[in-house]
Amino acid sequence: MKDFSYPVVVVGGGPAGMAAAISAKENGAEKVLVIERENRLGGILKQCIHAGFGLQYFGEELSGPEYAERFAVKAKEAGIEFMLDTTALEIREQTLVCVNTTGVLHINFGALVLAMGCRERTRANLVIPGSRAAGIYSAGTAQKLINIYGHKVGKEVVILGSGDIGMIMARRLTLGGAKVKAVVEIMPYLAGLARNKAQCLDDFDIPLLLSHTVVDITGVDRVESVTIAPVDENRKPIMEKAEVIDCDTILLSVGLIPENELTRSADVTLSGITKGAVVNQYKQTDKPYIFACGNVLHVNDLVDHVSHESEDAGKYAAMYAAGKLPTVDQIEVAPGEGVRYVCPQKASPADMPIDLYFRTAAPGRNTTLTVSDDNGVLITKKLLVTTPGTIEKMTIPADKAKNISGKIVVTAVHKEA
Ligand SMILES: Cc1cc2nc3c(=O)[nH]c(=O)nc-3n(C[C@H](O)[C@H](O)[C@H](O)COP(=O)(O)OP(=O)(O)OC[C@H]3O[C@@H](n4cnc5c(N)ncnc54)[C@H](O)[C@@H]3O)c2cc1C
Repeated sequence: MKDFSYPVVVVGGGPAGMAAAISAKENGAEKVLVIERENRLGGILKQCIHAGFGLQYFGEELSGPEYAERFAVKAKEAGIEFMLDTTALEIREQTLVCVNTTGVLHINFGALVLAMGCRERTRANLVIPGSRAAGIYSAGTAQKLINIYGHKVGKEVVILGSGDIGMIMARRLTLGGAKVKAVVEIMPYLAGLARNKAQCLDDFDIPLLLSHTVVDITGVDRVESVTIAPVDENRKPIMEKAEVIDCDTILLSVGLIPENELTRSADVTLSGITKGAVVNQYKQTDKPYIFACGNVLHVNDLVDHVSHESEDAGKYAAMYAAGKLPTVDQIEVAPGEGVRYVCPQKASPADMPIDLYFRTAAPGRNTTLTVSDDNGVLITKKLLVTTPGTIEKMTIPADKAKNISGKIVVTAVHKEA
């Protein structure tokens, strides 16, 4: 067994982990180590060969691998150490237990940044009835098979779920010669970004069926058809209106689950809504030496947000390791009317801006977003359109953040549904 010691260790070499590691180094951590279970850096971006990354962060449109490469180059130039092909298994106080082909490693750290990303929900998570024929993939798996391994996954496709990955795969499959017969969404509104609907469905005449779901899958060896039905306001299928669509492939784009097994091993408190750790504005969990960022903290819409959030996590992890992070009483940050969740869930009065990331609960127009504390309204913002698929960000300025008190509540009130 080998022992190592670092001021800051990061688990995950995706965009979150790389941004956190670079920032930790820039903010004074002498040695930073990134643990990555795959043989290359980049995380999920390695398979995202479409454009659409970096518009906010770099002010230009990059593919996923291009976006990741910029961080990988910077991280290497900064002298960050990487252990690839190494999986983090468990956190024991301030020691991370990992395994790779050399055996079990014990890595001691001053601060740990968790950046493990998330995995896709599966058919089993949704309990979709029907046969267990071949041809049923999660959208991300199909993306990997096509973009990394060059396989063709099917000819006639139905996609369940209107998340971003599903819509992006609808376009990818169409460009590869398949016929995407429909994208079926159980909710009455889109799950992903409106820009992806325009660019991936509308531009290719792919029908989007809102308030519909899959009620049966048939096929012996290979999928032969899928039965879909509209749902009522309680999301119950209306079976009299069910229809059969012939297809050989079904893609599931039905949500992502933050990969928090490692986080649980450290007994960190998780949020029942985001399924990620409960953190304060420093991205610090209730185990003060553990920080979290990226999709393992909450599922993000844009990687640009991930990079910004993760830079904060790396900076504050470095400060914690150096004994420079202030510890103060924390107050609750809660979702109010019209808001599903807010991250961070805690904040402390401090002379620094506090970024709040949140999702609205339902789509709406002419929306007023408000952040208040016990003293009254801190900030407001008006938006023409809001959707749950888009992450909203509001920042409490430093002059107000130093006086926050009681409880912070974020609300979204729509003038029109
Ligand atoms: C299919 C798809 C399409 C997307 N399209 C866009 C887009 O067009 N524009 C955009 O801005 N965003 C897009 N996104 C979102 C963006 O890719 C994510 O927000 C971003 O990749 C999240 O970064 P992350 O580092 O948190 O997670 P990931 O990229 O998932 O990286 C996590 C890393 O942690 C590693 N890891 C996990 N557990 C362990 C462990 N125990 N030990 C060691 N290593 C571990 C994983 O191997 C992985 O490399 C897309 C996402 C997907 C899935």
